[in-house]
Amino acid sequence: MSEETIFDKLIKKEISADIVYEDDIAIAFRDINPQAPVHVLVIPKRKVTGFDKLGELEEEEAGKYFQTISKVAESLGLNQDGYRIVFNSGRNGQQTVNYIHAHIIGGRQMKWPPG
Ligand code: 5GP
Repeated sequence: MSEETIFDKLIKKEISADIVYEDDIAIAFRDINPQAPVHVLVIPKRKVTGFDKLGELEEEEAGKYFQTISKVAESLGLNQDGYRIVFNSGRNGQQTVNYIHAHIIGGRQMKWPPG
């Protein structure tokens, strides 16, 4: 059993968040420390600790999770100008919350390579 994270508490509504989308599979909410005009996190309701553990989700669940990321980005009005999806994984990836989460980042020009 992995340790409880802030996102476990958020799903249980023990802490509040600015939720932009929710269904049976996933929930999307605004990042508390936005790195761009639009910065939303999308997590599956069934926990896996990181992108490296994506295989622990059922294939259908993982597929729906990915489709939700795409739909949420569209609903945020990001399709025309584009956006970036980031999964930080592990120490080198600078993952700070051990609950898989997609960052949807948009509303400004991105740079490459990332820091
Ligand atoms: P990571 O660095 O693990 O890829 O991203 C974790 C993200 O979660 C960070 O961007 C951070 O700002 C965000 N975050 C951490 N705690 C909270 C919280 O309590 N509420 C919300 N909405 N975002 C959080």
